[in-house]
Amino acid sequence: MIVKMTRLLLFFCFTSTLAAWGQAYQPKSIDYDSYDFHPPMKIDLILAGNFGEMRDNHFHTGLDLKTGGVEGQRLYAIEDGYISRIRISPWGYGLALYIDHPNGLSSLYGHMQSFSAEIDSLAYEKQKKNESYILDEFVLEDSIFVKKGQFIGLSGNSGSSSAAHLHFEIRETATEHALNPLLFTCFRSKIADTTRPTITGIKLYAVTEKGYMIPGKSSYYPCKLVGEKLVVNEGNPIDVSALLTENSYLAFGFQTTDKLNGAGNVCGIYHTNFTKDDTQLHEMKIDYLNFDHNRFLNTHQDYFEFDQNNKHIHKHFKTIINPLAIYVQNNGIIRWENCAGNYNLTATDVHGNKTILAFALGKPSGSYAKNPFDKTAGYFFPDSVNVLLKDDFQVLMEPATFYEPLQKLFKRDTVSTYITALYQFGEYAIPVQQKFDVRIKVPALRADFPVYKLAIGLINDKEKLTYIGGDYVDGWVEGAPRNFGKFVLVVDTLAPLITPLDFMEGKIITKFKNLQLEIADNLSGVSSYKAYLNGKWVLMEYDRRQMRYIIPLDKHSTPLLRTGNNKLRVVARDAKGNESEMGWTVVY
Ligand SMILES: [Zn+2]
Repeated sequence: MIVKMTRLLLFFCFTSTLAAWGQAYQPKSIDYDSYDFHPPMKIDLILAGNFGEMRDNHFHTGLDLKTGGVEGQRLYAIEDGYISRIRISPWGYGLALYIDHPNGLSSLYGHMQSFSAEIDSLAYEKQKKNESYILDEFVLEDSIFVKKGQFIGLSGNSGSSSAAHLHFEIRETATEHALNPLLFTCFRSKIADTTRPTITGIKLYAVTEKGYMIPGKSSYYPCKLVGEKLVVNEGNPIDVSALLTENSYLAFGFQTTDKLNGAGNVCGIYHTNFTKDDTQLHEMKIDYLNFDHNRFLNTHQDYFEFDQNNKHIHKHFKTIINPLAIYVQNNGIIRWENCAGNYNLTATDVHGNKTILAFALGKPSGSYAKNPFDKTAGYFFPDSVNVLLKDDFQVLMEPATFYEPLQKLFKRDTVSTYITALYQFGEYAIPVQQKFDVRIKVPALRADFPVYKLAIGLINDKEKLTYIGGDYVDGWVEGAPRNFGKFVLVVDTLAPLITPLDFMEGKIITKFKNLQLEIADNLSGVSSYKAYLNGKWVLMEYDRRQMRYIIPLDKHSTPLLRTGNNKLRVVARDAKGNESEMGWTVVY
């Protein structure tokens, strides 16, 4: 890793700009009126979630459509096309289909319960070929063609879904950018909305020239409805003197949400425009989202306000490492001397419903407090390469690894129950954009110690040990976490434990609908699992809700069974390569 560090440092000496993060807003030239898509379901389209709303670590990239509280609604292709990608997973989108359409757009249907017979056969063939339940297969263009309005499967609650619904996306096929489906007139016209957006509060910040928030220098003001008028601070000009900081600027954040007719669900705001004395300061509009940048949600919103008070605040300014293309206009940072005046925030939804908040700021007075970032030695900055080099613990972070200046917190706790000290680097609650390199020196161990079974562990905010992984290299273990916290070395030599739940050796399974097992791993986690009936692979799926592995006895597996004794074999492997295998005779 030292070699890599040197290379990186040299690289960043020669490339002085952060142009890669500063890409300009590029509006799509899509004629949203010109499409006439078939709806994905024939029931009333009611939203449980909209495009662009804030979720954990990402903006929501589609519509969540209600399915009447049940699974099994029939789903239809919105346009002619072909199945371009099939995904099956206990996590994420669960069972999902992607259809590429000849018009350059793709549609995606997630959390499905099942696919239509033809698609299901294709999916099963791919699972069989890969010997894996989990599938993420890009299918050839000539795989399965579908017509507009053709049945493609049933809605469900699969993957990381908490209630039955359809997750529906439209993407630009070439870039894979997700488009706001409600911009398409054919969909918007099917979803009634006369409800205005909500503005709940505003927040004022002292920020640096690069848009970094100065710790402890912000204040929140709730909005109140006085008669017909929305006001903050009882309608009086806000005094920002207490926020004054040397070498800093003033910036704004807004707590805005939207609701649609027919549902109580709180959705995201589409468009906000912010002016001072009728001059535009900042404008945000969520037309499309780039998946490569979607995690920068953590810097678009005031992450600390969310973490501590569960409030989603849209920052109406950005740091220099924020590449999100949702800012139409970005002069949200203003000078203290010029801040007195009248401000207007207009929040608009895709249907054109509007809410306006007017407020005023007074002229700040008093003296400027010290800017803590002036003592730069105490902080790592997100727009630099950052390294920490200790004899036994080292860190390398590329630019844009984290979002706000990071206090240089490093502690070595030698009173540890692990084979190394506990190394605290940063805090678990601080969000991280991308993986960074950590390496921990392997302490003196007995000669036959299995060093290749060592890995990095992270103690999370609930004091629970989580597995990061890593490799043994020249006396160190190198890993790539995407969290700060307390790091240790752990050793995983134990293979997963396989336990049958509803069968045993010699069991008669003729009347069984499936066979169920538990596969547990002590540390690194089950990374692969396979089952074989009489030497042939059979599908074994993971049910994440029941935390069970299930072998369905269905049209795919029963032809492999013969009358009398059958051999079932299950093989499981953990992330550190420890493997276990068990076999049983079952009677059919
Ligand atoms: Zn969704």
